[in-house]
Amino acid sequence: MPIYEFHCEDCGKNFESLIMISSALDELTCKHCNSSNIKKMISATSTQPAQSNAIPAGALSGCSSRSGFS
Ligand SMILES: [Zn+2]
Repeated sequence: MPIYEFHCEDCGKNFESLIMISSALDELTCKHCNSSNIKKMISATSTQPAQSNAIPAGALSGCSSRSGFS
């Protein structure tokens, strides 16, 4: 089933919703504040090449989790 991610312009939160038909997008409202001022997020899986779904190791190693070292 097609699950799309949406971003609410009013409360700034993201939420996911199941969309069966395209016309349902017009009636969709934010799950947090019921606003209709939402934008459909572009799925990350559809915009990236199939073979490059791995995150580069250097992208996540910039911040150490041991910040309390003394
Ligand atoms: Zn909202």
